[in-house]
Amino acid sequence: MPERIAPLGREVIERIAAGEVIERPASVVRELIDNAMDAHATAIRIELQDGGLRLIRVADDGEGILADDLPLTVMPHATSKVRSLADLEHVATLGFRGEALASIAAVAEVEIASAADESGIAQMLRAGPEMPAMTAETPRNRGTTITVRALFATVPARRALLRSSRVEAGRCLVVVRVYALAHPAVHFTLVSDGAVMLQTTGADRTEAIAAIYGSDVVRALLSFGPVQVGEAVMTGIAASRAFHSANRDHVLLVVNGRPVTNRAMMAALETGYRPLLRKGRHPLLIAEISAPLNQVDANIHPSKAEVLLQHEQALAAALREAVHTAMEQAPLTALASASDLAGGRFARPLQLRVPARRSRRATRLAEQPHLYDIHAEESALDDAGLWEPLAQFDDTLILARTANGQLLLIDQHRAHERILYERLRHRHKESASGAEIDQSAQLLLQPLLVELSPLQARQLEPRLDELRALGLDCQPFGDSVFLVRAVPHLPGMAHDAAAVAASLTEDAATDSDDWLDVVCISLACRTAIRRGQSLTHEEQRALLADLRSVMVVASCPHGSPLLLRYSRSGLARAFEW
Ligand code: ADP
Ligand code: MG
Repeated sequence: MPERIAPLGREVIERIAAGEVIERPASVVRELIDNAMDAHATAIRIELQDGGLRLIRVADDGEGILADDLPLTVMPHATSKVRSLADLEHVATLGFRGEALASIAAVAEVEIASAADESGIAQMLRAGPEMPAMTAETPRNRGTTITVRALFATVPARRALLRSSRVEAGRCLVVVRVYALAHPAVHFTLVSDGAVMLQTTGADRTEAIAAIYGSDVVRALLSFGPVQVGEAVMTGIAASRAFHSANRDHVLLVVNGRPVTNRAMMAALETGYRPLLRKGRHPLLIAEISAPLNQVDANIHPSKAEVLLQHEQALAAALREAVHTAMEQAPLTALASASDLAGGRFARPLQLRVPARRSRRATRLAEQPHLYDIHAEESALDDAGLWEPLAQFDDTLILARTANGQLLLIDQHRAHERILYERLRHRHKESASGAEIDQSAQLLLQPLLVELSPLQARQLEPRLDELRALGLDCQPFGDSVFLVRAVPHLPGMAHDAAAVAASLTEDAATDSDDWLDVVCISLACRTAIRRGQSLTHEEQRALLADLRSVMVVASCPHGSPLLLRYSRSGLARAFEW
């Protein structure tokens, strides 16, 4: 039996974050899915016409709405989920304000058909801005179907803000995808203008990912966690760095089953993967946090898209570390498989796989087999043993062969940069206490005065210990002025240590959570072997050995490719041997 719906008292209403809930079709889709989830649906079907502008219909097999309560659903601040102020402190449902259906009915024609029993007969309610509410009976199994028509037809100013139906449909798709990934046990179907855009089986997360992104992605999944932070537990899953996207649509944070954004957490995720991916690319990544209900506040944003978390900083730090560690273990393969031979893309962009596209993908694969080389990827995996330098090309690239006979082209600058970066990060991790100056630090002959803005100075101040651990000895010296006495000792540092010291200090004073990465990257970049520098055979060999010893060799810290790999079979195919 569903809970009864009742109006909220004034003191609860006053505590609820108010604001615009319905901005576009995707917000309707989100609210209706929330409701279906809250009704414990196991299957949710979403249908769109014209990007949702003409029609949005969400049908579920949840517990339904009692006939007597149906009119209350479209009444503002009436809900079955929260009764008192105390309930607001530990909300377990996705919805809790009793506002969504009322707000939708204020800007669109709404039809709600629902049955809370197995009688086969549902009650139906129609409501809308210019429509007196009416009810009728209609045949239906247990569950609820909500149909929204003519969204914003009476609010032209709102409607004018919408984009084309294709764009709006795309936004709805993102919402459904997020829920399908967050709740893999629910069977989701999205149909847009008659075509199935997304369908999951309602099994586990791996299956949901397979259904949405394809089985290639599933083979490349890495999971991380569980990591316990206080009473919260964090787990996650990511696809290998071989799959990436130009936007953040595939980076998901789920807190107690609620897909949300949280600035600190999203930034932590990004800081974790940023050094491992090319500039501007984002992975497929799902991070889940389950925390005691009273430590999560979902009542801070009108559309419940953001939450406030207790112990946010500790959670963010754990998340960042977990993501980085998981993703750097990813095989470096696939990033540079034989696909490069065709002059194609370096890695595979993350593409949403919709069933309609499957066949086209398959034919492309068959016609151009050299674009994909699974064998090269597999053999790269068992690439143990030394890399033997063959030659240096234009004082820029090192040509090398692997023990299993692959040809490598390695960008000497980026390779060295990666090595230095990994060492710096390692050095920083080792010195857990952080207060000790790194022993190898190089004293400046003449200490350097660096003047910062007051804001920069405030940012830098608490980071000085960590900088010392890296070998950058920087001390406050009056108002916003710092005295740099020593810089990290790195081979390339000799020439312009003072310049490096000044710019590092500024890097460390940036307003961003990943300042340490910024410092390590810029330090590595500034001191790494340059392109145009000729290397002896021994120097090449040493560089390759160092590169082998750092875990990640697939990209430089800026995220650009540093290594191209050609397998024998790939070469054979390219030359048609
Ligand atoms: P809220 O979800 O915050 O309670 P809504 O306006 O979204 O507010 O919904 C109002 C009420 O209507 C809900 O509390 C719930 O009782 C009922 N309801 C809405 N959609 C469904 C559904 N799909 N299945 C069962 N009950 C529903
Ligand atoms: Mg709701």
